[in-house]
Amino acid sequence: MKLLSLVVPCYNEQDVIPLFYNEIIKIAHKMESYLNFEIIFVDDGSSDNTLNVIKDLNSKDSRVKYISFSKNFGKESAMYAGFSKSKGDLISIMDVDLQDPPELLLDMYESITKLGYDCVATKRVTREGEPPIRSFFAKCFYSIINKISNTEIVDGARDYRMMTRQMVDSILSLKEYNRFSKGIFSWVGYKTKWISYNNVQRAAGTTKWSFWKLLIYSLEGIVAFSTVPLAIASIVGIILCILSLIFAVVTACKTLIFGNPVAGYSSLICAIVFIGGIQLFCVGILGEYLAKTYLETKNRPIYIAKEESLDNETI
Ligand code: UDP
Ligand code: MG
Repeated sequence: MKLLSLVVPCYNEQDVIPLFYNEIIKIAHKMESYLNFEIIFVDDGSSDNTLNVIKDLNSKDSRVKYISFSKNFGKESAMYAGFSKSKGDLISIMDVDLQDPPELLLDMYESITKLGYDCVATKRVTREGEPPIRSFFAKCFYSIINKISNTEIVDGARDYRMMTRQMVDSILSLKEYNRFSKGIFSWVGYKTKWISYNNVQRAAGTTKWSFWKLLIYSLEGIVAFSTVPLAIASIVGIILCILSLIFAVVTACKTLIFGNPVAGYSSLICAIVFIGGIQLFCVGILGEYLAKTYLETKNRPIYIAKEESLDNETI
């Protein structure tokens, strides 16, 4: 019988874990004649009772495994840790807040085993219940990154998906420290089917993503999957050089023809400020890439586990 590993990152989710577990058990029951489940909760350094709630489930149900981080490393690290610990032939990544409808697992399983897909991914068709400003920036982000990156990043794509062991092993072989999974999933390739669904509200608790966290995450995505901003910096530099040469020639001609009255003070200030701004902008872009390279060369682990459930439990 095949084994499905569910990887579930949790950060301060004590209220919603029992609800999630109940829903998953219903699905596992429906599929029990042909599929075994293991549920890997990754406690991402929660400061509430999350770990105890998970341990409680682990003591009652041998299908529940866990890994607990020494601090909050972020969802990307939690996904990586869960994938590394998973033993399944099929692996699924799910949010614990029930925004990822568990009944889709049935469809996903069918598509992989019967239709020959390597991955079934999900995307939201609506962003209902999300602040309009957040939706607006999300739209801008997707349109920019898809113009400047060769890796397709699908608008509205969720992390919720089911993948074959082979695909997950490929994902694990990308050991970069600055992880942007939406890009990594797409970069490794494989035949992917997309399922759309309407946005679902959180079952309990609150979102862990502030506007700033999302903005920084999206910049990370751009830096990780495109070097076009570096090219833009060079192009802007070249254009400005050409413009300044033309300006110099025009000024020289004007001075020869009309003499040199004291004028042009304001245009001079404008030019200085403009060029100063562009230089800072370009240095900033360079800095972003340099910072990422610096972090990668340190070769730090993607996560540090403080404790985890024992491996020799029977499934
Ligand atoms: N999460 C995590 N570490 C973090 C932030 C979030 O493991 O630093 C988990 C969180 O517990 C949840 C999932 O990632 O299971 C998605 O987070 P959330 O629901 O807050 O994001 P949203 O759905 O609002 O985008
Ligand atoms: Mg959520």
